[in-house]
Amino acid sequence: MRYKIAVLPGDGIGIEIVPEAVKALEAIASRFGHQFEFTEALVGGAAYDAVGHPLPEETLALCKSSDAVLLGAIGGPEYDELPVHLRPEVGALLPLRKRLALFANLRPCILFPGLLQASTIKEEVIKGVDIMVIRELTGGLYFGNKSREKTPQGGETATDVLSYSTLEIERIVRLAYEVAGKRRKQLCSVDKANVLESSRLWRETVSRLEKEYPQVKTTHMYVDNCSMQLIRDPRQFDVIVTENMFGDILTDEASMLTGSIGMLPSASIGGEVGLYEPSHGSAPDIAGQNKANPLATILSAAMMLRYSFNLDQEAELIEKAVNKALEEGYRTGDLLACSDSEQPVKLLGTKEMGDIIAQKILQL
Ligand code: NAD
Repeated sequence: MRYKIAVLPGDGIGIEIVPEAVKALEAIASRFGHQFEFTEALVGGAAYDAVGHPLPEETLALCKSSDAVLLGAIGGPEYDELPVHLRPEVGALLPLRKRLALFANLRPCILFPGLLQASTIKEEVIKGVDIMVIRELTGGLYFGNKSREKTPQGGETATDVLSYSTLEIERIVRLAYEVAGKRRKQLCSVDKANVLESSRLWRETVSRLEKEYPQVKTTHMYVDNCSMQLIRDPRQFDVIVTENMFGDILTDEASMLTGSIGMLPSASIGGEVGLYEPSHGSAPDIAGQNKANPLATILSAAMMLRYSFNLDQEAELIEKAVNKALEEGYRTGDLLACSDSEQPVKLLGTKEMGDIIAQKILQL
């Protein structure tokens, strides 16, 4: 089979980690006889520097005409002072999600056995963690109207509007029920219904849809409690569904259950073309040093195979290759920080980790 993949490395470590995911996909292509046609385009700060806008029309057109999009990360301190519509996240990432109609972001938070000791959390708490966080991606506070007004006293008032419609909630919750139905059949809906009106509508909608999915056990949890429960007893969770900002924050927290934010992949789906990217940002503090962990991006490529191309066996092979490399003690720096494993650890750079994974894909 032939698949067209738009490749958007972006900024910072994006340009280092994306080639490693491409390498893994090339190994899959050679092993299974698929053809992946990669076309690269600019996005984020790199696009702003080249053509004056973080999401050029050309890039958007390429994404729309591809079968899937592989994205690295965007942003960096040098772009923080740009007018808001030209900043990489607001000017590129959010419109890209919106214009590709990617309303659902799936973030599997799985602890690979080889990384049991890499987390800052006790082994007995995290052993066997396997959570799917489903985050609403095109609504809520990040997409609401934003404004600033001068106040008569001389200061300013800044406003961000948080709104959700029944339709927006229904489509993400239905998707979450379907995912939960194929897993351990438990859905935890996270909101702040004790304070926010949008959360009250969220909870009412989930309670109404719950009746259509009797095989799935539904629970509701306030977001502040959820952030605590994720650390106290993460294994209580199977699928979590939540709104945009809560999902953004909770998944960074959940990444620490897996050892590092460099381990957390993501799939954004819902439209015709899926977008696959690591959950982390452009990590300017380590950019250009061959230190970034490419595994979240490589695992995002596995999600692309599974969700956009229905290539389950190929996706599993990438996941197996990652697990094998970790079991054999291969680590990037972020996974070393808390490791007191007795197993000898082999410290690798971004490129070398990518090479090991590609090698394992060909050998396993
Ligand atoms: P970040 O995720 O880039 O980095 C947070 C910390 O995690 C840093 O210490 C970084 O070194 C580390 N880290 C992240 N990914 C890593 C990896 N693969 N391997 C090893 N260590 C890794 O978050 P930040 O520092 O808050 O943001 C930096 C920039 O990224 C900002 O401009 C922000 O707007 C942008 N950002 C982009 C995205 C995206 O492209 N989807 C998401 C979040 C932040």
